[in-house]
This record gives sequence, structure tokens and C-alpha cells, in this order.
Amino acid sequence: MSQDPAPALYAAQEPVFPRKVKGFFRTFKWWIMAVTLGIYYLTPWLRWDRGPNLPDQAVLIDMANRRFYFFWIEIWSHEFYFVAGLLIMAGLGLFLFTSALGRVWCGYTCPQTVWTDLFILVERWIEGDRNARVRLWKGKWILNKWRLRLTKWTGWLVIAVATGGAWVFYFADAPTLLSNLINFTAHPAAYITIAILTATTFVFGGFMREQVCIYMCPWPRIQAAMMDPDTITVAYRDWRGEDRKNSEAVKAGAPQGDCIDCMACANVCPVGIDIRDGQQMECITCALCIDACDDVMAKIGKPRGLIDYLALSDEEAERAGAQPKPIWKHVLRPRTLFYTALWAAIGAGLVFALFIRSDIELTVSPERNPTYVLQSDGSIRNIYDVRLRNKLGDDRRFHLNLTSNEILRIELEGKDHVLWIDVPADTTVLQRVYITARPQDPAASIESTALRIWVEDLESGASASQSTIFNGRKSQ
Ligand code: SF4
Ligand code: SF4
Repeated sequence: MSQDPAPALYAAQEPVFPRKVKGFFRTFKWWIMAVTLGIYYLTPWLRWDRGPNLPDQAVLIDMANRRFYFFWIEIWSHEFYFVAGLLIMAGLGLFLFTSALGRVWCGYTCPQTVWTDLFILVERWIEGDRNARVRLWKGKWILNKWRLRLTKWTGWLVIAVATGGAWVFYFADAPTLLSNLINFTAHPAAYITIAILTATTFVFGGFMREQVCIYMCPWPRIQAAMMDPDTITVAYRDWRGEDRKNSEAVKAGAPQGDCIDCMACANVCPVGIDIRDGQQMECITCALCIDACDDVMAKIGKPRGLIDYLALSDEEAERAGAQPKPIWKHVLRPRTLFYTALWAAIGAGLVFALFIRSDIELTVSPERNPTYVLQSDGSIRNIYDVRLRNKLGDDRRFHLNLTSNEILRIELEGKDHVLWIDVPADTTVLQRVYITARPQDPAASIESTALRIWVEDLESGASASQSTIFNGRKSQ
């Protein structure tokens, strides 16, 4: 008995040569490309005056000092919850757009899509449109092919280096780092990062392209769980297009649909699929096939929209001869409203937290081992490490104090009878603090006493505090 051969687990990449297309969605994609790339490449060069002691780069991830600067906002490392909140909002935003508009992220704004689009543009400028590129690909490696390929690769390399280079400028003062890079005096990490990002951009955008989306990215698999019959996605109106001009059915006398089988939709597709075969995981809903088909419909005098943005429920309705629902009814539904409400609530919470945060802060860490020290005079001493933060652009003198229902004395290590500390601009200072209860004070003998340590900037009147406890003799 013969056995079926095991299915092949490897298939060579079928190169895709997308044809040039014009139309509403193509123009929209050009604009999105210009805006996203413009933001990415130019942002590190924007300046923002924060005063004499602070960096003047508008957006800066200062790893050495553990700060993130975004125009007028300065996030310190202990405020990482802002970054976490923004990441959660980005995730929810992705859920929202996917459930409403399918793979709109993939089709328009994903870096892989944007850079691949840019690389294809360069390829088209140098090697010509689809047919010329197919001929070149099939042709022998003669001088002209080498010339075109080397020119194209050089163009890609320039983009790739600029992409890797732009990334490192977010982590240091961009003009200074550029000068250091040119003079070969920058930190090796900068050169290594640029080299890695140059290589990945060159390979992903130039050679792997749709393979990254199909085989490497988990998002196409995950997003299927977020889509439902109301999700708007790109679809072919087969009930209007079939039977196709060249089909066997039409040749046998069946009435012809609107599809003239020109293949324009498939030839412009950047992932190399034919949308007329139905919904496919590879489709990034870039809508270029809509533009291509609308152009064909205009030329043959048929209404646009043979390929269009459609909800699955509309497909069923239209097939049954009913009118589709207006788009807003698909978009505004409980699921998308829930995502929007959650997204807005987190955003409002972050904005609120941003506005109520103080320019001076303290963090109190009580010494736990031992919880208290019995002094020779019978008094009980607790030790605390107090981290003071001056987020202002000038040096400040902070005064420390405590409030409690019991009698407690506060002292600062290394300070003789003074309760102030000078904290330079935009820095933190760690100060050890002693709090003592005399033998006759109740706090010395009871297990724990609540207290609050205060820091006050006398110049501005701003203050901050944190509650903690004082451990008495019974705490052990
Ligand atoms: S572009 Fe339109 S008419 Fe041409 S093959 Fe595609 S669906 Fe048919
Ligand atoms: S089928 Fe159409 S929408 Fe989907 S990826 Fe191809 S061109 Fe873009």
C-alpha cells in the first residue's frame, strides 16, 4: 500500500511585484507615509527650552539619568506608570481600530508596511513598474541588471542607515550625537544599534516584505479574535462581479458580471493575493485593490465599489438583495464603545495624574533590620532612608519635618541640629533620617505609631509627604 508523501514544510518565497496604482486610498497612504516618517525622522531635532540645567531636546529618552522628556512633560523613572498607561492605551487603541476597521493598522501605519511601501517606491523609480521588474527578475545577470540592482540597494541602504540613525537620536542630544558619530567618538552602543537597525530595515523592507506579515508577525492571528460580522474590511462583491468575463460559465452562455478579469486588483496587491478568492489572512486591508478596481470600473462605465470596504453582515444583506447598514452603525456598537470608554478613562486618569503631581517629592523607606535600635539612654530610634526629588530647574533647600499624635524627634544624619537639605536642580538626594522616642514617651513602648514625614520647599511653599510607622519596643 502506497503512503502519501509528507507535506512540505518549506515553500520558497514567490516574489511580489506590485503595480503602480492611483486613487483615493493610495493618496491617503502617501500622506500617512509622509506624516509618520516625518515624525520619526524629524522629532529628535525639535528643540524645547527647559531652562539652563535641563536638556533642550523636545523628545528625549535619557537613560543615564533615567528620565523621559516629552516637550513640557518630564517623566522620572519612578513614574513609569505613565509609560505603562500609554502602552495600555496603545493596546486598547489597537483593539478598538481592529474591531471597528479590521487590519487598518497593518494597512496604513505599521512600520513594516510604511517602510516596505517606501522601498517599493524606490524600486519602482529605479527598475520601473511591475512588468519591467518582472522582466528584470527573470533576466540574466548582465551589466544592466547589476547596475539597476546596485543602484536600488544603495537607495535602500541610505534609507536603512537613516532609519537606524534616527532611532539613536532619541536617546541622546541629536546634534551632539551626530557630530560624535561623524567623528567616530560616539559610544560603541550607538554604532551597534545603528548597524542592527540598518540591517533589519534593509532586509525586512527590501527582501522579506510581506513574509514578515505572513510568517513573523503574530498580530494577524490575534486580531481575528477581535473581528466580528460588523467589522469593516476589504471585500469583493462577488454577487456583482461573477461570473467573470473569461470564466467557463460565461463562455458557456451564463450572464457576465462586472468583473472583466483584468487582474488589476491582484497586480497591485503588496502581499500578492487575489481578493476575489475571499477573505484571506494575508490581506492587510491596504485598499489598493479598491483603487485599482475603481479605476477599471470607471473606464468600463460601471459603478465603483466592486471591491470595497464592507462588513461581513453587509455582504450577507447585499447578497440577499437588502441595503447595507450605514458605516456608523457598524462602527458604533457595544464592543467599540466599551473599548473607547476604557481608553478614554485611562487617558483621563493619566492626564489627571499628570496635573496633580508635585515638583517636589519624597519616598520614605524604613530600615527593617532591625526595626528599632535601643539607645544607651533607653530611647528608641527608628531609621528611614528618605529619597528627595527636586523636579524644578533650579536648586532648592528642602525642610524636613514630621507629624504624629505621639511625641517623636526627627534628626538628619550628618546635619548638626538642622532639618534642611540642599537638593540641586532636577536631581534626587538620599538622606538618612533618625526618628527617636524618649523612654518616657508612649511611642517608645507601644508596638507602632503612625507618623507622616513632610518635605517643604520654603521658597515656593510646595510640600509633599508620605506616611510611615514608628516601631516601639513591643514590635519585636
Ligand atoms: S480589478 Fe476589478 S475587474 Fe479587474 S479583476 Fe479585479 S475585480 Fe475584476
Ligand atoms: S487584497 Fe487588497 S486590501 Fe488586501 S492586501 Fe491585497 S491590495 Fe491590500
